[in-house]
Amino acid sequence: MCALKDIEAKDRIIVALDCSAKEALQLADSLSGKATWLKIGMTLFYKEGPAFVQALKDKGFKIFVDLKIYDIPFQAAGAARSVVLSGADMFTLHASGGSEMMQGIAQITREFEPEPPVSLGVTVLTSMDDSTLQELNISKQAAEQVCDLARLVQKSGISGVVASPQEAAQLRELLGPDAYIVTPGVRPAGAALDDQKRVATPYNAIAQGASHIVVGRPITKAEDPIEAFDAIVAEIASIKLEDWRW
Ligand code: C5P
Repeated sequence: MCALKDIEAKDRIIVALDCSAKEALQLADSLSGKATWLKIGMTLFYKEGPAFVQALKDKGFKIFVDLKIYDIPFQAAGAARSVVLSGADMFTLHASGGSEMMQGIAQITREFEPEPPVSLGVTVLTSMDDSTLQELNISKQAAEQVCDLARLVQKSGISGVVASPQEAAQLRELLGPDAYIVTPGVRPAGAALDDQKRVATPYNAIAQGASHIVVGRPITKAEDPIEAFDAIVAEIASIKLEDWRW
């Protein structure tokens, strides 16, 4: 397995399929042979079920199943096993479930050696801020809570974190070169922001520390999704050596 720093540009892009099953299958067909990763979330998974993961895998993709597991350790471990058995190559869990829950999930992923899935801890949802944390009686600022939970993720044997690109540099410094740092909220220069607020370009997100970026609408809603995908590959491939922060 090559180091995260050295993976190819096209393998760093995870295309988020936030659409109907029919549209998702059409997009998968058009991106086949180009993209490596597709992401499906709760909306598609809860409607279409594990068979949909397999349908996309049959088209040759790696699949990121973003269900954000959060439950008592026993149930969370069972959920993780089911998600991986559905064919997920990458999946998410909530770091706030605590170290016992995360260690149990890490143990499940080891059952799938020699090709264990990538497990990612969600620290603080980007829809939450300091005031949301206060509501929950957490007096720390969101950034501090992100770092504390990221440390716990790593200590628990989970592969990495999902984070905003704005946190990528700090998290890379904290977690070192081998941690997966996957960032949504990415927009190529000049692209529509949609509902994303704190965005970064693919160039900056990866140069600052992200190992992978999640990109949805800039590809899926593009007139030509392949052209949009290729442009992002080219942008990442153009990162200058002096701009790499990790
Ligand atoms: O279309 P867009 O590129 O904004 O899609 C981003 C994807 O990343 C969506 O699937 C969204 O649910 C996900 N995501 C996000 N922000 C987070 C976590 C996940 O946008 N903090």
